[in-house]
Amino acid sequence: MIKKIWTDPVWSKVISVGIIGLLTLGYTKFLSVTENVTFKEAFEKILEIKIEVVYVFLAPVTYWILKYFYRKIFKKEKAYYSIKQQKLRSFNKTIDPSTGILFRWGVYFDYDTPFISDLTAFCTKHGETPIRFISNRCPFNDCTNSHNRIDEYAVKNFIESDLIDRWEKIK
Ligand SMILES: [Zn+2]
Repeated sequence: MIKKIWTDPVWSKVISVGIIGLLTLGYTKFLSVTENVTFKEAFEKILEIKIEVVYVFLAPVTYWILKYFYRKIFKKEKAYYSIKQQKLRSFNKTIDPSTGILFRWGVYFDYDTPFISDLTAFCTKHGETPIRFISNRCPFNDCTNSHNRIDEYAVKNFIESDLIDRWEKIK
């Protein structure tokens, strides 16, 4: 509830101004004690010269300081992707056992529908490091994966179908 009010742009400003008001009252009390005048006299004194200056300078400064700390405290909750989306995003690679082709991709969301971008294929038949495809085929001419070009569109559709299915099950 507090968080909801605080994230509201209007309410957070109202609260900031309220805090400034309290600070002003505190300062007034301080003046009335230190200068040995009544609270009312001290307050009138402040109203004459200080209040406008205080509001003009302190209000925005306090607002930004509070906002800065608020953001620091709630940083974790400000993650761009929800936990469920992050879970789905971890499905970002697969290996085709029959061909040894490794596919990597990034998962993004169009509103609530997952889609992939940056689909990249690698050949895993050449030692530890997967070799990235060039022009949709393995760059090694003697490799079986160099003979046929992969149908990028079909692979993308297959992966996205799988992701949509997983997404429905997570939800
Ligand atoms: Zn290869």
